[in-house]
Amino acid sequence: MNRKSFLKSLAFLPLAAAIMKLQDLSKYAENAPNTQKMPALFVGHGSPMNALEDNDFTRSLKNLGNKLVGDYKPAAILVVSAHWLTRGSFVNISSKPKTIHDFGGFPQALFDIQYPAPGAPEKARETALLSHLLHETNDWGLDHGAWTILLHLFPEANIPVFQMSIDYNQPMQYHLDLAKELQSLREKGVLIIGSGNIVHNLRMSMGKLQQGDPTPYDWAIEFDKWVADKINEGDYKSLLNYEQAGTAGKLSVPTPDHYIPMLYTLGLADKQDRVEQVYEEVTYGGISMRTFQMKS
Ligand code: ZN
Repeated sequence: MNRKSFLKSLAFLPLAAAIMKLQDLSKYAENAPNTQKMPALFVGHGSPMNALEDNDFTRSLKNLGNKLVGDYKPAAILVVSAHWLTRGSFVNISSKPKTIHDFGGFPQALFDIQYPAPGAPEKARETALLSHLLHETNDWGLDHGAWTILLHLFPEANIPVFQMSIDYNQPMQYHLDLAKELQSLREKGVLIIGSGNIVHNLRMSMGKLQQGDPTPYDWAIEFDKWVADKINEGDYKSLLNYEQAGTAGKLSVPTPDHYIPMLYTLGLADKQDRVEQVYEEVTYGGISMRTFQMKS
């Protein structure tokens, strides 16, 4: 061995050792619990037909899901859906949550869809322990507020999922406060998704649809922007009192079922988080598909 190649081999040794260490580290990372803080998501789910469609909205969910799996590797997903309204707040502890087709008048293909992700009974029980307001139940599965978006976000359906209900008898503040109690889940590998719509006036949207008029209502654009601005400003007090936004608020939120899931996403955010817009569109005149994440 000449001097030059000897020096070369010396230089290689620490590199090899470093590579070995890196390999050990990545092995460790694969097995270690995920303590990296998960983003908190809000998804505007819109029509159940999105489950069957390939459009700008569903593609934005696919991209987002890819990034989330790559960057965060969620251990479990918790969905707060506009379509599970209860008296009292519940978490579902099923080990095999059934796919619930909670709608009528849609094509058979939509009823044939199954989202076979396993449940997350342990994480659900852990969640229930975080607040005295939460109760465990087996009496639910995955409603269309959950599975129509999950099948685009996580098409492999291999991440355990559970849902939490919305106590529909409570004031807006209740939901923000309950979400705050759940913030620690974000450091335990749980990706939490609020699934609703910031603007959701089905009655007036149907009218537009029947008239074949795709243009959004002015009040829908106005309220959607008002909400986006208030989120950016961190002005949650105004968001709790959305009637403040006048006629636009009243028309956009005729009932609060689709608005409340957003309050969970906001309540889960902390001071380090910033809002990142994922998707923005007002469809059928009065349904906002705005989707965003709160992340550090
Ligand atoms: Zn809905």
